[in-house]
Amino acid sequence: MRFETKAVHAGREIDPTTGAVTTPIHLSTTYERSSDGSYTDGFMYSRGDNPNRRSLEECLTSLENGHDCVTYASGMAAISSVIEALPEEKPKRVVMADDMYFGVRTMLMETDIGRRFDIVTVDMTDLDKVKSTIESAPTGLVWMETPSNPQIKIIDIEAVAEMAKQAGAFSVIDNTAATPVLQQPLSLGVDFSLHSVTKYIGGHSDLLLGAVIAAEDNDMLQNLRAWQHAKGAVPSSFDCWLALRGVQSLSARVMMQCSSAKIIADFLEAHEKIEAVYYPGLKSHSGHDIAAKQMKGFGGLLSFKVKGSEKDALKVANSVNIITQATSLGGTHTYIEHRASVEKELTMAPDNLLRLSVGLENAEDLKEDLEQALSNIPV
Ligand SMILES: *Cc1c(COP(=O)(O)O)cnc(C)c1O
Repeated sequence: MRFETKAVHAGREIDPTTGAVTTPIHLSTTYERSSDGSYTDGFMYSRGDNPNRRSLEECLTSLENGHDCVTYASGMAAISSVIEALPEEKPKRVVMADDMYFGVRTMLMETDIGRRFDIVTVDMTDLDKVKSTIESAPTGLVWMETPSNPQIKIIDIEAVAEMAKQAGAFSVIDNTAATPVLQQPLSLGVDFSLHSVTKYIGGHSDLLLGAVIAAEDNDMLQNLRAWQHAKGAVPSSFDCWLALRGVQSLSARVMMQCSSAKIIADFLEAHEKIEAVYYPGLKSHSGHDIAAKQMKGFGGLLSFKVKGSEKDALKVANSVNIITQATSLGGTHTYIEHRASVEKELTMAPDNLLRLSVGLENAEDLKEDLEQALSNIPV
């Protein structure tokens, strides 16, 4: 089956007891034990496994052609679990892309994970630097995120995954912004692909969930699976059900978001009040060729700098009508956000930069809204 077919069918079947086409939600936390000690479908207690979670994990495994998938209560629970699941004998050194998701930076600063692991950051668009950083000390984990946000940097996935392999390290990618539709990291040699399912896969800004898809069985996957149950940061059945509903339209949504994002990027690039646009679908983007090689489309996320100060950027964000000024990405609504004032002193975002997550509104309406918002700042 091809991607779109699997998105509708993988991990699901017509309900054998009722004929329901849509998978029922199973809210039961516990399952009856038979006299011989067995369980009808292998389910015993919902934290260990449940039908909705299993369906979602099977579907996501299938969508990225992996071996298995482990889901969590949020993208951050998936991220912290991946770092902690690094097998005992591996060096506790993690080489990370410098433009990492802001929540990861916060986690490293504010929790014990940042102290228990030696975290080294590097600009992963510079492959020579990545190689020398990985080789300068024994490394256990190499962490990519591409496209990154808000700077929309593109990393050569295959090259970095190979460097990790040569160094005996596991490679991980945060594939959230790319989505499984546009980017298939496991086929490029990456060991683990993770998602904030909260974003594009859920797709409607109404659930919180994280997932890690493993390329093959190994010690690290076994830690992830055992600790999912033992530590208990599991998603609810309802959120799994919502994610499975969302995933069915993932491809259609993302393809439209790609085409609208390109229309908006072209419009902004030609605009007199715009200093720079960061969208990998633009020929002017430094990562355009690599993105064209490893992605099926350039995504729905872009950033741009207005000509002017932080005050001007905020003025634009505060002047939109159709677009919503809000955080997050990958939903049906278009979101605009001034990351620097959200991230405060830890930020790496320029103060005149705005991030746009393109939704499913008509692209012409979005363009007109940006045009009128930009008319509020001086040339
Ligand atoms: C939102 C996000 C996360 C964190 O996911 P939550 O579901 O909010 O915990 C991680 N990585 C990226 C790229 C994200 O956009």
